[in-house]
Amino acid sequence: MSANSLPKEAAVWHNLEIDKTLQVLESDRTSGLSSTEVQQRQARYGLNELQETAGRSPFVILVDQFKNIMLLMLIAVAVVSAILDLRSGSFPKDAIAISLIVILNGILGYLQESRAEKALAALKRLSSPLVRVLRDGKLSEVAAKELVPGDVMLLEAGVQLAADGRLIEESNLQVRESALTGEAHAVEKQAELHLPKDTALGDRINLVFQGTEIVQGRAKAIVTGTGMQTELGRIAALLQSVESEPTPLQKRMEQLGNVLVSGALGLVALVVGIGVLRGGAFEELLEVSLSMAVAVVPEGLPAVITVTLALGTQRMVKRKALIRKLPAVETLGSVTTICSDKTGTLTQNKMVVQNAYTNHRAFKVTGEGYEPNGEFQIDGTKANSQEYPELQALLVACALCNDSNLQQDQGQWIIIGDPTEGALLSLAGKAGVERDQWQARLPRVAEFPFSSERKRMSVICTVEPEVSNQALQNGLLEAQSYVMFTKGSPELTLERCDRIHTGDRIVPVTQEQRAQILTQNDQMAGNGLRVLGFAYKPLTNVPPDNSQETSELGLVWLGLVGMLDAPRPEVRDAVAKCRVAGIRPIMITGDHQLTARAIAADLGIAQASDRVLIGQELERMSQEELEQQVDLVSIYARVSPEHKLRIVQALQKRGRFVAMTGDGVNDAPALKQADIGIAMGITGTDVSKEASDMVLLDDNFATIVAATEEGRVVYTNIRRFIKYILGSNIGEVITIAAAPILGLSGIPLTPLQILWMNLVTDGVPALALAVEPAEPNVMNRPPFNPRESIFARGLGSYMVRIGIVFAIITIALMIWAYNYTNAPGYPRDPNTWKTMVFTTLCIAQMGHAIAIRSNTQLTIELNPLSNPFLLGAVVVTTFLQLLLVYVPPLQQFFGTYYLSPFELAICFGFSALMFVWIEGEKLFVRLVKKGG
Ligand code: ATP
Repeated sequence: MSANSLPKEAAVWHNLEIDKTLQVLESDRTSGLSSTEVQQRQARYGLNELQETAGRSPFVILVDQFKNIMLLMLIAVAVVSAILDLRSGSFPKDAIAISLIVILNGILGYLQESRAEKALAALKRLSSPLVRVLRDGKLSEVAAKELVPGDVMLLEAGVQLAADGRLIEESNLQVRESALTGEAHAVEKQAELHLPKDTALGDRINLVFQGTEIVQGRAKAIVTGTGMQTELGRIAALLQSVESEPTPLQKRMEQLGNVLVSGALGLVALVVGIGVLRGGAFEELLEVSLSMAVAVVPEGLPAVITVTLALGTQRMVKRKALIRKLPAVETLGSVTTICSDKTGTLTQNKMVVQNAYTNHRAFKVTGEGYEPNGEFQIDGTKANSQEYPELQALLVACALCNDSNLQQDQGQWIIIGDPTEGALLSLAGKAGVERDQWQARLPRVAEFPFSSERKRMSVICTVEPEVSNQALQNGLLEAQSYVMFTKGSPELTLERCDRIHTGDRIVPVTQEQRAQILTQNDQMAGNGLRVLGFAYKPLTNVPPDNSQETSELGLVWLGLVGMLDAPRPEVRDAVAKCRVAGIRPIMITGDHQLTARAIAADLGIAQASDRVLIGQELERMSQEELEQQVDLVSIYARVSPEHKLRIVQALQKRGRFVAMTGDGVNDAPALKQADIGIAMGITGTDVSKEASDMVLLDDNFATIVAATEEGRVVYTNIRRFIKYILGSNIGEVITIAAAPILGLSGIPLTPLQILWMNLVTDGVPALALAVEPAEPNVMNRPPFNPRESIFARGLGSYMVRIGIVFAIITIALMIWAYNYTNAPGYPRDPNTWKTMVFTTLCIAQMGHAIAIRSNTQLTIELNPLSNPFLLGAVVVTTFLQLLLVYVPPLQQFFGTYYLSPFELAICFGFSALMFVWIEGEKLFVRLVKKGG
């Protein structure tokens, strides 16, 4: 290949034969590219990445910032204030300050929103998939962005394609191409075709395209285009549009804005009305109104909320939970029910075969991990596997009906692929049954792939004539031209068998034998083992594609294999934590009911005697019947992905707030339906990740609980600073309104001073409150209803109560200060009382910030250093406030007056009352609770 662009054939890949494609791309179907070639191609073509185009244009994001009703009101205030100032010939300082704030708020909102979108996009990339490729003749997994043209990809169900490719071979391949064509139905693909040049994109069934999803089957394909050179890359409009949904909180804040603005307008009408009746000057009343309008708007709140959510996402990612949709950060704390898969999430997904059972003989298998080293034992004595033809045949089935790879990596045995299958390769290896050797003797020609619905899979292999005798010797009786190996759930596999392999014969399977096998299965499952059943079938022809339902009948039963998948040790604690936190864990598994129950009991998810609902029963139930059961059942076994959807819906109907895990391609609908859809970062398919709100980087149940805890902390902190900020706003508004009503001449606070308070003296401590660590009881209480109003659970009444207390303290000070500074003989400006009011409001908020750290614990009971930011914020803010009062240029700009030490002390004294009041409230509640 030459130059930087793809060869000229690039436009017509569908028109090329497979060999020609391989030739053009200078690649090999069995060994792929060499590492040096990959490096050169990466340098030539760049990384396999799409150029980002943001979901909304920057202009739209900017304009959206000004759609906020509170900002609109501020703009109106600025206009009126400018007119008033210009008319009276003074410099429109307030108007300019307000306009600056409005613009700043807009810019800040814009920056945060676009940064949030970028950050989310980056987080999503973190969970970006690994692609299986052949390089240097070996199978390896590489990051999608490292793919280059010529790479040979191995594809299977659940994969979202990371590049465009030409199929080299395929089996039952179906691809959903809706990302590209809008067509929801999956398309059947075929490798061995070569199509006319003018074939439409949707009909190029020998190609696969980036962004499309494999729903069934498997394939090998050679990468023909990467990055912007793909079909998806060409339709730039569809790219990487990161949805930016308003979070429930943002929606609530909008409602809050409406309430505040209408409340403020009502109050303004009242003050102006009373003022006019009392003969006040209209212009002064208008100024009072303007101040009130500025006071009511919590200018600093949007920034604080965004920062809190962003910090929450970061904390979660540190705990291995990756948020894909922002609302999840705050709603996670409301989860009442966690529906979790078993394998890999509750258990370690490290399988080790412990038992095998063939022809009435139970074998124990020793060895650890995936290392193919260990013994077969019967009743504690070593047994030679070669002496048992049915065991030998079973092991051949283990090796061949298998898609995983067992490899040695730096001395460690690792598997690439499904751990269940890896354990089977290791088992076969322990008896010297090597997959590669057997694959040469019995090459695979077709397959019926595994799916969670079918719970089994089959492969069809050719029996090479020269080895048929050998195959016979190795226990595969009646071998014909072909042989099919089937493995899957024991009950379902046994149902499809009519004969059984016993030593040197194949005989019809009796009812007694069936019962015996099932009892053995129950026994293994009852010990928590994951059990698979094996069978085979001699064939004269290769069965046609998609004929699994008929072809997988009349099988010859081989035996059972039981493997241990130990529970994750940390899950037990996580489950206990859930219980205390009022969260119900539920296990939903495709595995056998007894395996499920044993593991659930071990982890504390259910009692050993608890009812288990199995897929077949669920199938027979109506949705209403299921709704009646969902609150009672904690284990669902042998379920299919579509059952998961029904279970979520039933739980939601009962008012539960459901988190649901999933990994398979068919789990996507349930993940979307769940309130929090959780995909697995390691084993999850790309499709499930795409449908999820959160991805577990370590696939671990305990991580869900950790994320829930963080969610609760975020939500509690948000409520805390909303209380803090709005309590102060209400105090300010009432104080301003009181002045003319009390007949004081002059407005206590100018709009500029109010902006200072709302942004700096309220805003900075509020930011520090946003990083307040978790209260110790955060997981000791039931979850809060995510649909509750922002004012619920005392928040509304707190705001009003504290606002009134705040106002009473300030008004008391205001009356005293007014009389003091307007008394005859007062040495300085009689307006000094205004600065005292201003200072008291600011300093009282410092006490408020310190006291509000905990709703229940007294400040002296808290570690003052557990939130050093708050201490810092209080010190810095108080210092800044003093600068405003004592530095002449600032005095001039903000319209403040010098305060004598005595006056300052009075301000601090009144301010302290705020702290005392809130601490007193906590004590009072404690005493009442004790008394009750
Ligand atoms: P969970 O839903 O908790 O992850 P699971 O892994 O058992 O549990 P599935 O992967 O849907 O769920 O598997 C369902 C059943 O299918 C298993 O219990 C097993 O009997 C069978 N099975 C699993 N993996 C394979 C496989 N690779 N080949 C054949 N059968 C399998």
